[in-house]
Amino acid sequence: MVRFPPGTKIGLTTSVPIEIIFAAGCIPVDLNNVFICAEQPEQYVIAAEEAGYPNNVCGWIKGMYGVCLSRPDIHAVVSVVRGDCSNAVALMETLNYLGREVIPFAYPYDRDRISLEREMHKFMDIFQTSPDQVRAVQQRLNRIRRKLEQLDELTWQTTCVTGKENHEFMVNSSDFRGNPDLFEAELDAFLEERRHSRDHDRAATGLTRLGYIGVPPIITDLYDILAQRQCAVVFNEVQRQFSMPSARDDLVEQYLNFTYPYDIFGRIADIRQAIQTRHIQGIIHYVQSFCFRQIEDIIVRQELDVPVLTLEGERPARMDARTRIRLETFIEMLKSR
Ligand code: SF4
Repeated sequence: MVRFPPGTKIGLTTSVPIEIIFAAGCIPVDLNNVFICAEQPEQYVIAAEEAGYPNNVCGWIKGMYGVCLSRPDIHAVVSVVRGDCSNAVALMETLNYLGREVIPFAYPYDRDRISLEREMHKFMDIFQTSPDQVRAVQQRLNRIRRKLEQLDELTWQTTCVTGKENHEFMVNSSDFRGNPDLFEAELDAFLEERRHSRDHDRAATGLTRLGYIGVPPIITDLYDILAQRQCAVVFNEVQRQFSMPSARDDLVEQYLNFTYPYDIFGRIADIRQAIQTRHIQGIIHYVQSFCFRQIEDIIVRQELDVPVLTLEGERPARMDARTRIRLETFIEMLKSR
């Protein structure tokens, strides 16, 4: 019996090998994107709190739980039980308790190839798909991933793609919005328009070049504020990782090179390289309230040789006044250097 018939919607809590889900004819739905792209994302957080989620739990976890409550069409949820966070494990347990089917997926902490390969085979067995079917999807998605690389190049080489536009495409590449064909058509149209735009020399107009690192922001107007202050975000670290910039013919290799689920040091190497090649003047390190990744800020500050501003957000909302003042002071400092 087919466990997940074609068309079944599969919720994701972070990036997993979607090639396998698509190969089974199922539709991946990144719960983070549904949450933050909603007109009123706060409603999902409130729904989770009304169901009993504590105040001092990460807003993304509550948002994803709230989304699942309101979306019975999402039949099952893949939960990354190693390589994301322990909150994701408890999220899986509460969803399971609600009667939602959950599928665990574990990234090996030590980046061990054999362990990841085994995990992928288990994932293929769950979705009843074959390596050949997965390979065909992988080749299809790699074509889109290469176009995302071009979009990224336009972002830092010409800045005719804004940091916000870059963020939106990259963050949605975690599930290609469930429809790679539509995603690609939209990406093609966007690239075509930007390549012919007359904005290619904006890089020369004195924009302050920033890198954004950390999980995607829950602060809804961060990119707009940065653009208003003449800043160009030329690097979106984790969002870019979702697009699998080192996509390969070898799927296991691709997910071994994905820096997000492993230790901070792989991420640091990626960020340091971007600072150099993209001529980044300052880094915004976004940290989520109640997230263990906040502790990694200690290492980030020691290891990067450009100024770092750490910003914290809790619930989906516009930037508060205090954070805005800290951000503006940071930008002024960079501009005066
Ligand atoms: S922001 Fe941190 S605590 Fe929240 S889901 Fe992501 S890793 Fe977990």
